[in-house]
Amino acid sequence: MAAPSLSQEGRENQREEWSLEDFEIGKLIGAGKFGKVYLAREKESGFIVALKIIFKEKLDKYQYHNHLRREIEIQGSLEHPNVLRLYAWFHDETRICLVLEYAAGRELYKLLQDLKCFSEKRASTYIASLTKALAYLHEKQVIHRDIKPENLLLDSEGRLKIADFGWAVQSSAKRHTMCGTIDYLAPEMVEKKAHDYAVDNWTLGVLCYEFLYGVPPFEEEDQGNTFRRIMKVDLKFPATPYISTEAKDLISKLLVKDSSQRLSLQKILEHPWILKHADPSGSCNAMV
Ligand code: AMP
Repeated sequence: MAAPSLSQEGRENQREEWSLEDFEIGKLIGAGKFGKVYLAREKESGFIVALKIIFKEKLDKYQYHNHLRREIEIQGSLEHPNVLRLYAWFHDETRICLVLEYAAGRELYKLLQDLKCFSEKRASTYIASLTKALAYLHEKQVIHRDIKPENLLLDSEGRLKIADFGWAVQSSAKRHTMCGTIDYLAPEMVEKKAHDYAVDNWTLGVLCYEFLYGVPPFEEEDQGNTFRRIMKVDLKFPATPYISTEAKDLISKLLVKDSSQRLSLQKILEHPWILKHADPSGSCNAMV
């Protein structure tokens, strides 16, 4: 069992072994395909966490062991303000428990559903946070490959946290696996070609569009049509809502078929739209 530290401001709590006995389990905060997520408090320190309890039976059923192993290895090694921390994990006969940072805010996709689309200030703040997180991941040779609103959580300050590393991979070599969600797939993945870090830059373009217009840019009822539109980079900007030329410029520079020509993460952070609108604190709670 790996046992990283469960840390609190000014306090490091190193443990060799964790068990469910170490936590007071609170309310159910979510349920996924493999198990349930509870609010919990570590008894000794009072530190609040989210405890994800995964049933081994479900892992067997969906043959998800390798995914979960990769997710734990990668997420457990990361420490960034916009990446959800995985503090520790442990298991018993029937369950695997992940001790996660608690994201007290809303799920980003639900917020987007409610607001229909985001203001340029909110959208640019999320894009800047995501870009910083991806720059950190890429530096550690991690390609996320599945950035989408469903994998993004918000903390109590409204700061964005990348929460799911099920499709992430740690490698500097080009990859071939087709993965991720259709709407967010880069052309090289749709065409099952080798792909690298630049797939995440493409996805930032898709997300930026979706944040501002409320729908991803190549969305179609039929999956085949979505694939075709992605491959052609059939990008259209509707007349409403009104979106600034700078925002459209950033999207157009990310949704570029040739992956080597996509705007770099550093250039995204220096783009006029980001500089003009994004809140440097990354917090969106006070925004409309
Ligand atoms: P998952 O099994 O990862 O899909 O999680 C199911 C649901 O639990 C998510 O959609 C979130 O609403 C919630 N959730 C998961 N992890 C956390 C967390 N660390 N903090 C707060 N809510 C979470």
